[in-house]
Amino acid sequence: MMNLSALVQSLRCSLLHIESRLLQAAGLTLDRQLAPALAVNGPSLLPQIQPEVEEEDMEEQPPGILDSILWMAAPKKRRTIEINRTRRRADAKLLKVKNNIEPCPECGHLKQKHILCGFCYAKVCRETALIRHQINAMEGGPLRAPATETVVLYEGETPSQQDKDKRTVERARKRPAWFSQ
Ligand SMILES: [Zn+2]
Repeated sequence: MMNLSALVQSLRCSLLHIESRLLQAAGLTLDRQLAPALAVNGPSLLPQIQPEVEEEDMEEQPPGILDSILWMAAPKKRRTIEINRTRRRADAKLLKVKNNIEPCPECGHLKQKHILCGFCYAKVCRETALIRHQINAMEGGPLRAPATETVVLYEGETPSQQDKDKRTVERARKRPAWFSQ
């Protein structure tokens, strides 16, 4: 009796299997058990005894992340190390030699010819930040600034005729050579 019932069960399973195969070939359903292309064919063709409840559970699960990985493209032939190195060390990928580097005429740091010297620019930035801090201390906030132009006077400088009506910021130091008006 046991042998007969097992045989019937296996036949039923294989029929179900063939049916799902045909449906899948017709594009009617997507069986997750048969979906991976890299799965070995041998065991899946053999009759498998599985309870129906488990099959239904498997079919109702949403497709997972790992399913799509099996469909990724894979190289067919190994590329030799010579070909790989020729590609990696191609002329376009190597660093270029720069011939347009010169010392800055102000400070002597190296810089590219057509580019502002970064060292001098940082110095000017620091000085303007100090001036902005001083203006903030004088007036107590940006909203109280007068609607006139601003002139920055260093130690020993007097405002010219044009700058009389402008807002004056007096700095308690001598004007640096690199900070022109
Ligand atoms: Zn410089």
